[in-house]
Amino acid sequence: MFTNASVLTMDPKAPRATAVAVSGDRVTAVGTDAEIEALAGPETRRIDAKGRTLLPGFVESHVHLFMGGYNETVIRADRVSGMEALRAAVTDYAHAHPDHSLLLGQGADYAIIAPDQPLDRHLLDALCPDRPLAIMAYDFHTAWANTAALTAAGLLQGRDLPRGNAVVTGPDGKATGELQEKLAILPVLELRNVGGRESLGMSGIEPPVPPTEKDRLEDRETLKVGLRHAARHGITSMHNMDGNRYMLEVLREIEEEGELISRLRVPFHLTPEMDLSELDRASAMTRDFTSDTLCSGVVKIFLDGVIASGTAAMIDPYTNRPGHRGDMLFTREDFIAAAVEIDRRGMQIAIHAIGDAAVRLALDGYEAAAKANAPRDRRHRVEHIEMLHPDDLARFAELGVVASMQPPHAPVREDETTVGIGPDRARYAYAWRDIAETGATLAFSSDWPIVPISPLAGIQAAMTRRNWVEGLPDQRLDLHAVLAAYTRNGAYVGYSEGMTGTLRTGMKADLALLSGDIEKTAADRIGEMEVDLTLFDGRITHQR
Ligand SMILES: [Zn+2]
Repeated sequence: MFTNASVLTMDPKAPRATAVAVSGDRVTAVGTDAEIEALAGPETRRIDAKGRTLLPGFVESHVHLFMGGYNETVIRADRVSGMEALRAAVTDYAHAHPDHSLLLGQGADYAIIAPDQPLDRHLLDALCPDRPLAIMAYDFHTAWANTAALTAAGLLQGRDLPRGNAVVTGPDGKATGELQEKLAILPVLELRNVGGRESLGMSGIEPPVPPTEKDRLEDRETLKVGLRHAARHGITSMHNMDGNRYMLEVLREIEEEGELISRLRVPFHLTPEMDLSELDRASAMTRDFTSDTLCSGVVKIFLDGVIASGTAAMIDPYTNRPGHRGDMLFTREDFIAAAVEIDRRGMQIAIHAIGDAAVRLALDGYEAAAKANAPRDRRHRVEHIEMLHPDDLARFAELGVVASMQPPHAPVREDETTVGIGPDRARYAYAWRDIAETGATLAFSSDWPIVPISPLAGIQAAMTRRNWVEGLPDQRLDLHAVLAAYTRNGAYVGYSEGMTGTLRTGMKADLALLSGDIEKTAADRIGEMEVDLTLFDGRITHQR
């Protein structure tokens, strides 16, 4: 039992309490200290919350668990700055991993050494002359490799690649070490003797070579790293946003070991080149994985890219690229047909749509599916919604579509606010409060490993969203609306509101005890709070 707590149940019918009793995997009572104390037996374990906030476990509604876990196992270039710090990180990692055929770092800032000194192979040779080493930029669009890696990958003399990809060469005709985009980076990544299966779910494919027992063991460990990381942040449910059957099988092995310490939904990823008959694989994943902790039932689709690179699909041209509107990854006809067919099969749809044209097409697809197929409780979702045309604002609530948004992605500097979109369209950029006020369901998340997974950091971001351009509406939400988007609404999106997302008698015992009272903490300090204890399915999965 938890007593002396500031319990925020997230249940609108009984929002507050001071004590919660748990038995086995269930919440057995929620009430006052006296009421809960009266239930105690000789073996009851008591946790005095000392006034700290006790909440339902957080629901992370958009995450990439396998890649996030993998990211934790490589050289953490995101945590270093300057040559000496990078040298220490590389040296420590090389010592700890003598058998890795490629030393790989991730998360580097483009100015990791100094603003005016880009990484190159000579700098990396100075850190590590004898083993292949590559460092990826935080956005995965650039990597830098040392001479050993370039030689082993056959890139040292440069290579002709399709437009948009480049092995950058210097005046001597040799590769400088800078590799631009996927086709330039891939030959180096293929040097790895560990990992490599964590990103297959993004392309919707299964491992091209059947994984060995050693591979499966390695992947189980990587996923467990991700699960433990999430538990430390109070997360007890996650909606994964990439997936394949292999990932589900490995997760089921973890479940059978008793180490699946979060509820997980894993989608099938439908890509533009696939025939709709491939949805048979999605239906099979849905049929074969149906436990309280591991299920599928959802299809992920990318409709466009991102604003920064001009690949988000816009209704009107970008302000910084005359006439350019970005590209839709599906034709309208193909996408609508896919949405109708997935919906007909009874699965949920999650669509990556960042530009306002992509968001509109996503909603058009959902509208077409609702017209074509029998009425049902659909809860389809749109991911990101960084740009929205005002004519589409009311359609989320009208169509019952969930807005799945990432507060930490909103601009944190003035110069990011209007780049590419201009001040007028910034009115409907990351417009989560406008969307919430139409009555639509809002679910919040991080998109980890794109940004850190911490829901507390996300809560702070959603509550303190700054207006960088005068005249833009206030998109800040109050604490309770934000908490709902990280708990109850996330459970609703996963059709698990009868099991988790609120603290009520009979619910699964998924909860998070924070390091203080969140209602008494200034909004701009909430990100500094910690999660002191995470309970998942009645088990303590994290304790500070
Ligand atoms: Zn994502």
